[in-house]
Amino acid sequence: MGRGLKRLVIEDYLGERARIRGGERAILVEVVPPGVEPSERLAELVALAETAGAQVVATTVQRRDRPDPATYIGKGKVLEVQELARGYGADTLIFGVELTPAQARNLEEFTGLKIIDRSQLILDIFALHAGTKEAALAVELAQLQYLLPRLRGWGQALSDTGGIVGTMGPGETRLEQSRRAIRRRIQTILRELKEAERARDVRRSRRRRLGLPQIALVGYTNSGKSTLFNALAKADALVADQLFATLDTKVRRMLLPDGRFALLADTVGFIRDLPPQLIPAFHATLEAVREALLIVVVLDVSSPAASTHLKVVREVLAGIFRGPEPRPPLLYALNKMDLLKTPADWARAEEILGEVQPSVLISAKTGENLGELRQRISELLPQRNASFTASRYD
Ligand code: GDP
Ligand code: MG
Repeated sequence: MGRGLKRLVIEDYLGERARIRGGERAILVEVVPPGVEPSERLAELVALAETAGAQVVATTVQRRDRPDPATYIGKGKVLEVQELARGYGADTLIFGVELTPAQARNLEEFTGLKIIDRSQLILDIFALHAGTKEAALAVELAQLQYLLPRLRGWGQALSDTGGIVGTMGPGETRLEQSRRAIRRRIQTILRELKEAERARDVRRSRRRRLGLPQIALVGYTNSGKSTLFNALAKADALVADQLFATLDTKVRRMLLPDGRFALLADTVGFIRDLPPQLIPAFHATLEAVREALLIVVVLDVSSPAASTHLKVVREVLAGIFRGPEPRPPLLYALNKMDLLKTPADWARAEEILGEVQPSVLISAKTGENLGELRQRISELLPQRNASFTASRYD
């Protein structure tokens, strides 16, 4: 058994094979129907892979109408990707589409590389952004449910080589053992989720006692939410850390120009075509959005895909706030203005500026116009105990 395979077996046993652990040298494989321009989807896939912690060493596109049942991409493309991987010393293939368990298995066996599909990639990003224990558990549950039918049966390879033998019972294959371990973990998570709900009540009442209005940063992946979060909350992070770090690591206190304090929450990115089975995990990471009194929508105005991103963000927000309750006001932060160079860039930015109100053109990176953004935030944030209470979406 080669070293690569041995590593896969160990990771499989731990139920962690199909994850980005960080630092993988990855080749991205995007598949689009003939005639569709791939650059926007490829750019998004790069952003997602980097957000999850992978190092992108090359990208490749295949145009095809319907997937090959065995390997999704065609046989010739598999060989080409394998060559590419050898040339770049890559250890991982990340697909911009969802693979069936059989396709993932065949690809893995054929190439000897770690295979990640779009859903697994997105789940890894959710895991990174789970600021609360409850969100982390919900995401882990989704990861394990996704993994279970995808576990590899390496039993034969193992007994052939006398490889890694742990505490396997007589007659039990490693695959069965792994499945059993994962099912046990799923049961534990379901129990722990009940307790985590109680922690949510503790968080809520702590916030209420502080009486601080809550602001949520939302937006497409890579729009600059975390950069803005750090820029806005930096000066005053410590106090909030003590109060909240153990409860919600993605919430910080910020000072507004009018002298009020607010709680600022960073959130996971909104993503195009979220696979339906990931929606519960996604919603678990959005508690801060549902409880916000003001939502700041961060948009990368330098991206040629900015208007597509805007559309996705609006759809996702509509999905989160479906009830008849009053929705919190929105403020648009049109970010990365430092990257606007050409007249065409500016024309695109101005078009979006005209379309979304109220909005502020900013750069979270250089700090440009952040004073104005803070000003608009304090104007739009309702006074405490006015028309909103934190429990209105319960
Ligand atoms: P998130 O996925 O929305 O949290 O985005 P991040 O805050 O992680 O930022 C994504 C990338 O965009 C990072 O490489 C940031 O350094 C970069 N970035 C964020 N804001 C700006 C900005 O105003 N200007 C420029 N040039 N880059 C930015
Ligand atoms: Mg972020």
